[in-house]
Amino acid sequence: MATQLKAPRLTHKVLMRGAIEAVTALHIGGSDIGLTIGGADKLVVRNPLDNTPYIPGSSLKGRMRSLLEKVGCADSCPGFQIQVAERGGEPRLGPCSCEGDKACDVCLVFGVAAATSRQFKEGQPYAGAARLLVRDAFLSNRQTFENPRLRLDMPFTELKTEVSIDRLTSAANPRQFERVPAGAEFTFELVLNVFSDDPKETFVTLVKQGLALVAEDALGGQSSRGYGKVLIKLTELVEIPVESYANPEQLAQARKENQLKGGPIEYGSRLVEPMAA
Ligand SMILES: [Zn+2]
Ligand SMILES: [Zn+2]
Repeated sequence: MATQLKAPRLTHKVLMRGAIEAVTALHIGGSDIGLTIGGADKLVVRNPLDNTPYIPGSSLKGRMRSLLEKVGCADSCPGFQIQVAERGGEPRLGPCSCEGDKACDVCLVFGVAAATSRQFKEGQPYAGAARLLVRDAFLSNRQTFENPRLRLDMPFTELKTEVSIDRLTSAANPRQFERVPAGAEFTFELVLNVFSDDPKETFVTLVKQGLALVAEDALGGQSSRGYGKVLIKLTELVEIPVESYANPEQLAQARKENQLKGGPIEYGSRLVEPMAA
């Protein structure tokens, strides 16, 4: 007869909210099917309802994870190293792919592959789908872009030509990149699902570390050419016990209890102070 183990129980949702400011221009690529529009080769992703550029949750989440793996997994995770060895002998970095019963914190927070999920030992955090949900981040200062004095190449964006040089033939290969100008602001929301036996504080700290690393790295493409520096301002961190969801008043109360008692936390920095509007 199979032994019955106690299933992990969802105990808290930790909401983290704030703003992502483009300190340098951002290129987060969408499809390239609109090649004729404005002549850009590389377009940014846009919300089809209002045509504003946005930061897909997958971009932010992916960058957080890969940076955290470089910091935390490189010489300590069997999952990370197995992945390196399996790729036909070609050493490649990550992604960390721990097995379910010995997953590292990055895999626990960002998710393990379906094939190895749902394996757990009683009393230990279980490995499964991502605990962290990263929402799409929408443009919050669109009125800044509606200033008629601005000369933008396309709605909300600018175009910039980047030339890559073929190192062998010296042939120049110019391409036009659409980018969201510095000064654009996006609203982000992360939701961390916390289960019984999870080290809640450790996971929250890991997520904050991920935000801090992204702010000192970049979002989107062409980062070695100066694109993608962001300032991330965490303004809200609330821990909601799941019982509150059965009671609207309790829920409203729980949502009000911002854990950031010392005020918002800023990750990254501006290069120059923003212009007055
Ligand atoms: Zn790892
Ligand atoms: Zn791992």
